[in-house]
Amino acid sequence: MNLIFFGAPGVGKGTQAEKLAERLGIPHISTGTIFRAALEQKKELGLKAKEYMDRGALVPDDLTTAIVVDAFSQPKNSNGFILDGYPRNLSQAKALETALRELGKEIDNVIYLTAPKEEIVQRMLSRGRTDDTEDVINHRLDVYRSETEPVLIFYQNFELVTEVYGVGTIDEVHERVVDAVKVNTES
Ligand code: AMP
Repeated sequence: MNLIFFGAPGVGKGTQAEKLAERLGIPHISTGTIFRAALEQKKELGLKAKEYMDRGALVPDDLTTAIVVDAFSQPKNSNGFILDGYPRNLSQAKALETALRELGKEIDNVIYLTAPKEEIVQRMLSRGRTDDTEDVINHRLDVYRSETEPVLIFYQNFELVTEVYGVGTIDEVHERVVDAVKVNTES
């Protein structure tokens, strides 16, 4: 199963994608986590990404798409995957379509996690990540609205989107996610 977790920063995509990946036994590919790991290991990719992440801006598409294409080339990701944090603009969504078409794969379902803005801001402030200061959070939310939300319409046109309410305990939201995945795969 090839899935995308979609939603605003702080809505819980990472937590829920991780949990579903475990349950389905497929890998979780998070571009943000890959950038942070590369930075920790002082790799060039991480150092290049840092200046954008620090501002809450999008890392350039060529760097970001290269990570995803590289992940698809690894055998462990060949039996399905959960993408989290990618695609984040229309050009990435189109690059993803092209990469998948070349591999003879397609996206089965886009899980759209939602929560009120006040809730996601509170969650981010309590996460304590270096890019979770109030100014950077506000910028990330602006970027989400202007660049990332159009991606939702792109997938809605293909009738691939299932909305899941992201407020509740981690387990409650997880059960909703599991139901959502079933709904779309059965139809
Ligand atoms: P996340 O962990 O998904 O919140 O991502 C943290 C930061 O990594 C973002 O604020 C961006 O700077 C960068 N990033 C992650 N995924 C992408 C992407 N698909 N395109 C561009 N930048 C990204």
